Amino acid sequence: MQCTVCTRDLYADETGACRPCTDRVDRTLRAIAGPGGLYARLSASIRPGSSSGGPHVSGSRDAPAPVRLTALSLAARGGVVTILQTWLIDWHEALGYRHPRWDGDLQQQCDQVVARLRVLLPWAAEQHGAFDEFAREVGQLQRQIGAATGGERPPRRVPVACPCGHVLRVTLDTAGVKCPGCSVQYGHSEVFQLPLAERRAA
Ligand SMILES: [Zn+2]
Ligand SMILES: [Zn+2]
Repeated sequence: MQCTVCTRDLYADETGACRPCTDRVDRTLRAIAGPGGLYARLSASIRPGSSSGGPHVSGSRDAPAPVRLTALSLAARGGVVTILQTWLIDWHEALGYRHPRWDGDLQQQCDQVVARLRVLLPWAAEQHGAFDEFAREVGQLQRQIGAATGGERPPRRVPVACPCGHVLRVTLDTAGVKCPGCSVQYGHSEVFQLPLAERRAA
């Protein structure tokens, strides 16, 4: 049996997705929610005048920059919150549960849906047929929010050496990688057991 996300061989007590992959998804979900989370940062980034207290009056009618449009579409209904809610509806249906309910504004709904997804995460990682897709989509949301808010630098790439001599460039988020040199498939933790490749001066 292999992990549905990173394809490394599972331990005997694992089913579906491996523990590191499940933990990574859980960490990302946790990072999205809450008053200091990625979604809150995203919402704040699209109303720059809101901290002044009074109504924000702008004399300029400039079109918003593309980055702000991306942030806007991610923050609005149909964006991050809706994508997560769609997954939760799907999970509830698979479990035979009632349709989930949402209350409050989008930030509150974001916190609710993340909390609920995290409760059901162990089940989904083990049993849900599309968990790999969920894992990828959550990672994508995190990167999109990071790019839209300009708050996150791209993850640092670490060069590691495959025994075949090929250098693989991986990030801490790498779920798994296939060596293009010898076609060996590495899981997340296996790839970090490979020796670091020597950095050569450019
Ligand atoms: Zn895995
Ligand atoms: Zn190799």
